[in-house]
Amino acid sequence: MSVQVVAAKMADVELKDVAGKELSPVTSQAEEKSPSGGEFNAAAESVLKGEPSPLSPAPSTAKMPQASAMKRPDPQHNGGDAFVNRDGTVAEAPRMKKIQFADQKQEFNKRPTKIGRRSLSRSISQSSTDSYSSAASYTDSSDDETSPRDKQQKNSKGNGDFCIKNIKQADFGRREIEIAEQEMPALMALRKRAQGEKPLAGAKVVGCTHITAQTAVLMETLAALGAQCRWAACNIYSTQNEVAAALAEGGFSVFAWKGESEDDFWWCIDRCVNLEGWQPNMILDDGGDLTHWIYKKYPNMFKKIKGIVEESVTGVHRLYQLSKAGKLCVPAMNVNDSVTKQKFDNLYCCRESILDGLKRTTDVMFGGKQVVVCGYGEVGKGCCAALKAMGSIVYVTEIDPICALQACMDGFRLVKLNEVIRQVDIVITCTGNKNVVVRENLDRMKNGCIVCNMGHSNTEIDVASLRTPELTWERVRSQVDHVIWPDGKRIVLLAEGRLLNLSCSTVPTFVLSITATTQALALIELYNAPEGRYKQDVYLLPKKMDEYVASLHLPTFDAHLTELSDEQAKYLGLNKNGPFKPNYYR
Ligand code: NAD
Repeated sequence: MSVQVVAAKMADVELKDVAGKELSPVTSQAEEKSPSGGEFNAAAESVLKGEPSPLSPAPSTAKMPQASAMKRPDPQHNGGDAFVNRDGTVAEAPRMKKIQFADQKQEFNKRPTKIGRRSLSRSISQSSTDSYSSAASYTDSSDDETSPRDKQQKNSKGNGDFCIKNIKQADFGRREIEIAEQEMPALMALRKRAQGEKPLAGAKVVGCTHITAQTAVLMETLAALGAQCRWAACNIYSTQNEVAAALAEGGFSVFAWKGESEDDFWWCIDRCVNLEGWQPNMILDDGGDLTHWIYKKYPNMFKKIKGIVEESVTGVHRLYQLSKAGKLCVPAMNVNDSVTKQKFDNLYCCRESILDGLKRTTDVMFGGKQVVVCGYGEVGKGCCAALKAMGSIVYVTEIDPICALQACMDGFRLVKLNEVIRQVDIVITCTGNKNVVVRENLDRMKNGCIVCNMGHSNTEIDVASLRTPELTWERVRSQVDHVIWPDGKRIVLLAEGRLLNLSCSTVPTFVLSITATTQALALIELYNAPEGRYKQDVYLLPKKMDEYVASLHLPTFDAHLTELSDEQAKYLGLNKNGPFKPNYYR
């Protein structure tokens, strides 16, 4: 059957799910804003309309090579957060620091010197710390110090509308993208199902996200759906140079390389949006830097922009601020707060990456080790589950009796930090709070205790309190410090208290697939929404959309979803096709 696409063509189209069943309109619930009439899903779902149900079994990808097969951490020789590239060179994982907005910067001609560029490149965009996308890269740290801005490069078709490290790495990057594709089934399904019809035909998407293999799969999906894309990095360290090369070779206008300076960062964003004869009509942002730049420099562009899709906590926060101040001039989708982000990114991503981060940095053996995890929210639950499975003895601290009870029921000892601080081998914070581990706790830790943070802020551990004259800091490996007390006791501090997994490991592709699918569907919906469906406000994805994204990932597991009978649906007061939970359900 042919694919019926596009919301514009779709406003009047009967709502159907992929199996051709009628869908009930999505009703706006609880505190969330969803468009009136429950039409939200129309465009996105129509992309898949007429195609086989995503719930029908599909060949399992279980036997396919995993992205992780590509990484060969060699902490013994290369430092805990280093990666061995295919060519045998070693790439360091990024250091996370914040950069300030360069509001006043209009000129990019004042180029930093080589040294200046290096020092600037130690800073980083705020956005990079809250999307939890993989920031580590397999990209080589080539000796070529020439700034990409000083190079004239062209792809094999003679196109030079990009600025990346080295176009010659394109083949290598292509292989990285192919590996990611295997773990991003929903995006691949979207591509297949939209063949012929292009729900994003005419869309000019300007994006600012981590430029990794996973993002490349998203960009190539958007292109397959008809969009033109121009992209910059939201993080000065996270770009996989070889992936950027593969994208440039494929005709994408990419402006990003690993180790950009702050000046480079804004220059790249500007090159994305400031082009004669081309104006974006959609924004896909991660952290709000791109949105902010357009607001500051090119406010008129918003006349043509149909919507913003934002992934990160910070970016969403900024959008709500704009909305509150009455300054948001286009509709925006808050992808960050969708269930499929919070319940998957926070929980499963951390469950899979906590061990990786600890291993790469310290080579620690987990079996029998005593670990205290501070905070038993989504992140804490993920960390505890992984450590328990490895045979660690896990203690939990909590302030909330409900989460505390959950920890108890899951078989963890709930303690106050002080009760176990002398005996534990590893301390992990994941509270989103500040000063959870303070100097007094650090003073009482035993020799060799590993201390790290999985929460957003680097103030969960009071690292500043360790910068006193009597304590000696010794850099052991990149992202690993010994802090030594006068009596010789030392603790092992990881990533200077910043997010361990983001700083020192990678994040599983499948989790990113879920978020990327949500981004793609949100773009399709906003782009195709008829006039008036969305106001100048921030919208959450309705539960139905979340359920839909999840359903697209089920075939990977050869999962068979039970369908409600008419009688059961009536009994529960639900539509047979969902949503199955209220919008406030998290
Ligand atoms: P959450 O709110 O579900 O859980 C945090 C828990 O910490 C809560 O249960 C809270 O009661 C508890 N808590 C607060 N203060 C405490 C204290 N002083 N002592 C003990 N417990 C305390 O949040 P979450 O989704 O688990 O996220 C936690 C943090 O991790 C946030 O900062 C979030 O932004 C970040 N995060 C990190 C990643 C990652 O990849 N590392 C991914 C997603 C989120």
